[in-house]
Amino acid sequence: MDDLDLKIESPRVRIAPSPTGALHIGTARTALFNYLFSKRYGGKFILRIEDTDLERSKPQWEEDIIENLRWLGVDWDEGPNPENPKEYLGDFGPYRQSERKKTYEEYIKKLIDQGSAYYCFCTPEELEAKKNYFMSIGKAPQYDGKCRELSGSEVKKNISLGKPSAIRFKTPKKKIVFDDLIHKKIEVDSSLLGDMVIAKNTSLPLYNLAAVIDDYAMQITHVIRGEDHISNTPKQILLYEALGIEPPRFGHLPLILGQDRSKLSKRHGAVSLKEYKKEGYLPEALVNFMVFLGWNPDTDREIFSMPSLIKEFSLEKCQKSAAVFNQNKLLWINGFYVRQKNIKKLTELCLPYLMEANLIQPVLESQKYPPVFGGETIRQKFLISESQETVDIDYIEQIISFYQERLKVLSEISELTDFFFKKNVIIQKDMLKWKTADDKTALDALKSAENILSDIKDWTQEKIKDRLLIEAQNFKTGDRGYFLWPLRVALTGKKASAGPFEIAAMLGKEKTIARIKEAQKMLF
Ligand code: GLU
Repeated sequence: MDDLDLKIESPRVRIAPSPTGALHIGTARTALFNYLFSKRYGGKFILRIEDTDLERSKPQWEEDIIENLRWLGVDWDEGPNPENPKEYLGDFGPYRQSERKKTYEEYIKKLIDQGSAYYCFCTPEELEAKKNYFMSIGKAPQYDGKCRELSGSEVKKNISLGKPSAIRFKTPKKKIVFDDLIHKKIEVDSSLLGDMVIAKNTSLPLYNLAAVIDDYAMQITHVIRGEDHISNTPKQILLYEALGIEPPRFGHLPLILGQDRSKLSKRHGAVSLKEYKKEGYLPEALVNFMVFLGWNPDTDREIFSMPSLIKEFSLEKCQKSAAVFNQNKLLWINGFYVRQKNIKKLTELCLPYLMEANLIQPVLESQKYPPVFGGETIRQKFLISESQETVDIDYIEQIISFYQERLKVLSEISELTDFFFKKNVIIQKDMLKWKTADDKTALDALKSAENILSDIKDWTQEKIKDRLLIEAQNFKTGDRGYFLWPLRVALTGKKASAGPFEIAAMLGKEKTIARIKEAQKMLF
């Protein structure tokens, strides 16, 4: 089936997160797929906050969901207004379940009045005992229907006595068949479901009923969600039928597994968008990566921007089989997008990391990132924290440009570049020795580098390079590494870094010579 066969016109789709934790990568993936589907077919994407679990729902998690979806560029047409979340965008609100009590009351009353649902007064202890009984005879635990046949007067009496109750659905016995947009035909025998609880009381529906009422009230045409909800769909279809309304189409996106093929969880590393953001993944990289967690366009092409996805995305190319989260692929894609940035933008993105590592600070409080005042970008100056020297943003841009090719996540920048900002570098003696070099060879190299560099008056990268390369050719074995490696380690303290010429030029003569002298002490 091709999406086009569905004759999709102006679909209305939604993401319905519960604000009980930080935005999870799985929820973000589902949001992205819904967003792309709505944009591809000129429809609407709705954000509905499912905050009926009052104990676990917290405003801070709703803020996190809103902030991180926006950061990804997955914007909604209807739902809490991101500029002022007290207000709503769209005409089908309120878009928070906690504010929809009135609507729920109407539907719950209707289900009870028409005999599709009933009050259940069984106590938790009774239910537990029944469950254990079913399990002991090897049957799936199911409600036995005890309160199904209570008479109207018995119900009234129990209510007037203040007996706690819940609302159960009178599950009709039938075969439920639906055509999943991704899994195709699915059949479920409803007698396996039992009479499920659909509401805590006459105004507080549980998830399945609330979702049905809201999807109907918000005129949702396609419910695209994670496969973990596939067992809820037959239940929801029965509720639609009981309410006499046409269900939307359903599509269930594959589960996301970690590299070890178990369900993706904290054990595998970061799972929330806010953690990815903090580690320095770019939103465009996450979008590009997440779309492959279930969408399989049958090409070798790996790079897709949001506009190209809006053109090319289709549910038809979504896979049923689980999607494996490949951390290396995410790193690779992120590195790609890091390389695409112009250096000004990349520097802006890296500054918070350098500041957080306390390598640099803005000179004035008012110059804090972002450096835009009255529409004009002012030239920023920074203090190097240890030395209290002032440097221009150009200096930092230059340093970052040395690393643009190898930077995979932004948070690596402080570790890669700290030696530019620190007074001293910590060197391990053995690291100073290239291949088979002994202490003396490394020491000779450093002495000779010190002499050559001390003679340079015009301290430019070209000069430094010219002079050092001549010596490197002549130095003992003829392998440049014996000369250049100890020098580079003396300046950086690191196994890998930018080349020694750029680094020496940036550090300036005084610091360069001081570091070479310091390293020599280790080899005496
Ligand atoms: N609140 C549910 C969740 O966060 C929504 C499921 C659905 O999309 O129907 O998983």
